[in-house]
Amino acid sequence: MLYSLELGIQLGSGSNQKTKTSKDIFSSTLVYYIFLAGMFIIGVYFLYDALQAYTAGDIEGAGLSSILGIIGIGMSIYMLNMLRKRISTQKIPKKVVTTIECKKCSLKKIRTFMKGDYVLKDVENCGKCDEPMLITAIYTEKTDKS
Ligand SMILES: [Zn+2]
Repeated sequence: MLYSLELGIQLGSGSNQKTKTSKDIFSSTLVYYIFLAGMFIIGVYFLYDALQAYTAGDIEGAGLSSILGIIGIGMSIYMLNMLRKRISTQKIPKKVVTTIECKKCSLKKIRTFMKGDYVLKDVENCGKCDEPMLITAIYTEKTDKS
């Protein structure tokens, strides 16, 4: 847990949006929910307004208000589904791995990402020929853990 938090800070918001800390996800989700609730209430209000207009005999006004109401409620439900999808994908912690290659014998090694890793950085010496090895790739992969 501590490792993933540190990783989230390390990578920042610039290069990888997916490695956010759980706190960030929570606060942005909360704002989103408030926004959705607001839109839903506006939708319900328009529907109520449509009913009022209808009973008053204003068919045209009722039609317009009901369309706005349906759009408002529909949009909020649609966005709620989008949010659910987004959260479910964010729940899967992504493991960042670093690929190291030997310049001489092209021996390949894959290890977990460490602080300060960057592509084309010289790292530890090759176990086979004792030549310095080079980071060739850094990427995220889904953890197998369910
Ligand atoms: Zn080598």
